[in-house]
Parts: sequence; C-alpha cells; structure tokens
Amino acid sequence: STEGRTSLVAGYLQHIADQCADDRSGAVADYIPELAAVDPDQYGLSLCAHDGYLYSVGDTTTEFTIQSMSKPLTYAMVLGRHGSDVVDAKIGVEPSGEAFNEISVDSRRRPRNPMINAGAITAASLLLPQHREVEPGVVDEAFAELVEFYSACAGRRLTIDDEVYLSEKSTGSRNRAIAYMLDSFGVLGTDPDAALDLYFRQCSLRVTTADLAVVGVTIACGGVNPRTGRRVFSRRTAQRLLSVMTTCGMYDGAGDWVTSVGIPAKSGVGGGILGSLPGQLGIGVFSPRLDDHGNSVRGVDTYRHLSADLGLHMFNIT
Ligand code: GLN
Repeated sequence: STEGRTSLVAGYLQHIADQCADDRSGAVADYIPELAAVDPDQYGLSLCAHDGYLYSVGDTTTEFTIQSMSKPLTYAMVLGRHGSDVVDAKIGVEPSGEAFNEISVDSRRRPRNPMINAGAITAASLLLPQHREVEPGVVDEAFAELVEFYSACAGRRLTIDDEVYLSEKSTGSRNRAIAYMLDSFGVLGTDPDAALDLYFRQCSLRVTTADLAVVGVTIACGGVNPRTGRRVFSRRTAQRLLSVMTTCGMYDGAGDWVTSVGIPAKSGVGGGILGSLPGQLGIGVFSPRLDDHGNSVRGVDTYRHLSADLGLHMFNIT
C-alpha cells in the first residue's frame, strides 16, 4: 500500500539522518555573513520518485539559497534558447579538476564547463541581450524568466533572499574578476556587470530539500516535472545536464564522487546537494557544514549511504 511504502521509506530516511547527525566536521561558508549565520546542525533529506511521490525527513521546510545548484538550470535555459552549437562555442564540457571559483579557461579561452563559476557567469550572460549597452530593467526581465523556469522545475514559485543577493553583489570581487577576465577574452557578448547581477540573483533563490528533489526528478524524467505533468526542457537537454553533473558537478571532488556514489549531482555552498538518477528519482539534501571542496559534509555522507544501501550507483550491475 502507499501508506506502507511511505512509512517504510520514512523509516529508512530517518535511519540515514541519524547516522549523519553526529558528524560535526567541516565549516559553514563564511564568504558572506548571511551564510555564516545559519544553524550549522540543520539537516534535511527529500526523495522524489519518478511517479512524483515525495518522501522527506528532517528540516525539509527550511529554506536556504540554491547557490551553485542553480548552474545546471541556467545551463538548461540557454541550451533551450540557443541550441548546443552556440552554447558549446562559449562553454566547454570538460571537468576542470579545479575549485569552483578558479579563474580557469581552456586553450580556446572558453570556461571549461558550466558547473564552475566562470561557465555559470557565461551561461547567465547568454540570457541577456548580446550587446554592450544593457538598458535598465533588462536584468529584471531576464531574472523574471529565470524564476519562471526554475519554479517550473520545482513545481512551486521560488523567491529570492534579498540579504544574500545584496551581500553577494557587494562582496563578489572574485566573481567580478572572473567576469572581467572572460570579458577581456571576448567570451561575454553583454555587459559583464549585468551578467554578474543575474548570476548573483540566481544564486540567491531560496529552495527546500523538497524543491531540490523535485528539480532532480524533473531532470531524471527527461525534462518533465512528474508532479505537474509539465515539460520544462527537452530530453536532450536533460541528458546534457546529467552528463555535466556526472563529470563536473562536485568540482574537484568529481572523480571520487562518481566512483564512490555514482549519482549525477550538483552541490551549492549553502549546504545543498541536488541529485538526479536517470529514470528513477530526484534527491535533495541540506546540511550547512562544508568540506574542503565546498560540498556539504553530511550531504556527501547521505549520498554515500543511499548509493550503497539502495544500489543507486548509476553503474550498478545487478
Ligand atoms: N555564490 C557562490 C559563488 O558564486 C556560489 C558558489 C557555490 O555554490 N559553489 O561563489
């Protein structure tokens, strides 16, 4: 029965939550005060099955900022809008083996992939008019479309955390350096400050673990959100997202991740990890303390348990 299934899964998820609860290693992101101020012990876990059924345990109504888990979604938008030829000319698909905020480009001076900041800022730039004079209101318009798209993936209207946004915007020297470097290489067809503004806003959208699980299952279901029945992006785009999440989603921890967990995923410095297992399910986990790569410590641990216990490794041979 559905009820039987629900309590069985809930019991198992609680078991994982208990196993992770004692691990207080790592440190919350502190590059802006808003992220440093969160309760570091929070933990939430949600799964969404391909039939749209959602299972959750812990702090699953707590909102936190999406941060880098926005990267696959903006990449999906630009692929849909411009097609892969145009996008590939600007953003590579090779894992960088470097940190997410590395100022890194390939021999063609393209950002190496869309999952690091350089690639994500370039993706955001492709949602803006491709000329230098950006009229006021243009970023607002692009952001409204972006919120629409992300919300369709989550099946719920997402909102921005203004404090995080303003803080990102006022302290983002590193990202500004990346954008201006890309601009000097001629990668950006628009005003670099407008691209940065859009990128900071997308990073500041608030999500719950349930939202992440639904986004994950929408990717897993080839671009159709099984809870709303709505097609948000194409199967081809979904396949791309799964590919780049597999190879580049966990930054310089990507090789270890694929080997030990084997679930396409994307992490964010807010403490979330979004996962997507093709045809099967979406996963959302949240716990603020991060390891040296910038991935949630308990989040990574949770995925290791899920993968091992349930045989979720994508190369699981039965
Ligand atoms: N806002 C953060 C940044 O741009 C996002 C990085 C992340 O989540 N890894 O640096």
